[in-house]
Amino acid sequence: MIHAYAVFEPGGELKHYEYDPGPLGAQQVEIQVEHCGICHSDLSMIDNEWGMTQYPLVPGHEVIGTIGAVGSLVTHLSLGQRVGLGWQSGYCMTCETCMSGDHNLCPSAE
Ligand SMILES: [Zn+2]
Repeated sequence: MIHAYAVFEPGGELKHYEYDPGPLGAQQVEIQVEHCGICHSDLSMIDNEWGMTQYPLVPGHEVIGTIGAVGSLVTHLSLGQRVGLGWQSGYCMTCETCMSGDHNLCPSAE
């Protein structure tokens, strides 16, 4: 179960929120978040300034934590390893865009 704080409407207050993310995918990891940045992008999402927010919204990105679980195909990360994660995820790490350092533009990123 994920324990977080979420807003439930534009401009709403952060309230305790729990959800089940479902089974861990074979190429996914679970990060036990220790610290999380909140920036103006999060405030824009909370207020639905870009017209794309889906509620409930758990704001925050650029997290630091440790690996709590690994999918069956994950070989480069291990339990307890300290990691960071930015706004996007799902980089392929094989395309020309990724290999040139522009992971945020990877067509496979989520
Ligand atoms: Zn890529």
